[in-house]
Amino acid sequence: MVNRRKFLTAAGSVMAIGSLLERPRILKAVPQAATELGKVKIRDVKTASVRIKYDAHLVKVTTDSGLYGLGEAYNRAGVVDHIHSIKRQIIGQDPLGVDYLWHKMMDAGVGQGSRSGSLTGAISGIETALWDLAGKILNVPVYVLLGGKFRDKVLIYHDTGSPNTIDPRPWVEEAQRSKAYGFKAMKFDLNRFRGERWNRTLSSQDMKAWVKILEAIRVELGPDFPLGVDFHWAFNTREAMRFVQMVEHLNLWFLEDPMPPENADAFARLTAVSKVPIATGENLFTRQSFRPFIEKQACDIIQPDTQKCGGLLEIKRIADWADLYYINMLCHNMCTPVGTIASGHACLAIRSFVALESDSVELPHWQDIIKRDGPIYKDGSLEIPNKPGLGIELDEEVCRRHLAKGTGFFE
Ligand SMILES: [Mg+2]
Repeated sequence: MVNRRKFLTAAGSVMAIGSLLERPRILKAVPQAATELGKVKIRDVKTASVRIKYDAHLVKVTTDSGLYGLGEAYNRAGVVDHIHSIKRQIIGQDPLGVDYLWHKMMDAGVGQGSRSGSLTGAISGIETALWDLAGKILNVPVYVLLGGKFRDKVLIYHDTGSPNTIDPRPWVEEAQRSKAYGFKAMKFDLNRFRGERWNRTLSSQDMKAWVKILEAIRVELGPDFPLGVDFHWAFNTREAMRFVQMVEHLNLWFLEDPMPPENADAFARLTAVSKVPIATGENLFTRQSFRPFIEKQACDIIQPDTQKCGGLLEIKRIADWADLYYINMLCHNMCTPVGTIASGHACLAIRSFVALESDSVELPHWQDIIKRDGPIYKDGSLEIPNKPGLGIELDEEVCRRHLAKGTGFFE
C-alpha cells in the first residue's frame, strides 16, 4: 500500500516540476504583453461610401504603426458626418482599449443622441474597425477577442426580393431564386401593399391575400424550410393577433416587426398569445432600448443589427442578456461583406445566435468588394476567415468603381 505522506510528497514534487516547466512560458508572456500595450496610437478615422442597394459606409481607423482597422457603419443619413465629428474622442489613443473608447464616444455624444439613431450607427462602425485593428495587433481573429466560438460557420437567412403584387407566382419565383443561390433559410417582406396605411388595420381580404402568398411559398419550400416574414411595423396589436392566428398552420420561423418598434408592452401582449415566434429589434439601439423588450419577454427572438445597435461587443452583451430569458438572437444585417463578416465574428461568439441576415447578394459587385478565393457563402452559410482581425482585405479597384456619387475613397 502506498504511504499517504510519501504519495503527497511525490505528487507535490511532480507538481513542482510541472510548475517549473510552465514558468518560463508565463514569464515570457508577461513582458511581451507589456511591450505590446500602448505601442500603437490611433492617427485618424476615414470613410468610404460604396453603393450597393444603398450607400454603405466603410470605416478605416489608421494608426502611426501603419496597421489599420476596417469596419462598416449603418447605411443611413448623417452617419458619415457623425463619424467625422466623434473621431476626435479616439485620435491619439491606444486602439486596444476598445470598450473604453466605445464608452468615451458614447458619453461624448450623448447630447447628439449617441444611444439611438445615426450616431450609434457611426460609433458601431468605428468600434468594428477597432476590433479589426486589435485583432491585427494581437495576431488573433476578432471572434477570439469576443470570447471564442460556439460554432464553425454562420447560417445565413436571405432577405429576398418582395414583388409588388398579390399574385403568388412572382413570390414563388423569388423563393426559387433564393434557393438557387444556395440559401437554407429566408424571409419575405410582406409590406408592399396595405389596405389602410395610417390606422394600421387591414381588410380581411388583404389578410387572406397575404396568407395565400405564404401558402404558395410554403408549398414551394416544403413544410420544414425556415421561412420568416417581415411586416415592417404595419399592424396594430389586435390586427397582429388576428394575423398570427391565420398563419398558425404555416410553421413560420418567425414574424418580424408586426407592430411599430417602440412599445414593449404591446409586443409582450402579442408574444404571450402568438403561436408564431415574434421577432423584433432592428430599430433598437444599445442595451438601454433593448432593456424593456428583454425584461418583459416582449419577443421570442431579438434581432439587433451589429452596425446599428452599438457594435460587436454591444450586440454580444444584448444577446447574452436576452439569453438569461432563453430568448434567441437573429442578427439583422444590411451591409457589404465587410459589415456582414464583422457581424459573423460576433455571431460565432454568441451562444444564442440562430442566423445572420443577408441582402444585396444579387448585385454582381456585392461580393467583389473584398478580395476572396471563392464565393462568400458556401451551402447557405458564412465561413469566417481564420486570420488576424476580421480577416478582410478590400478590393480597392471595385470599391472605387462603385463609390457613392460625389464621395472619395478614405480621403
Ligand atoms: Mg426588418
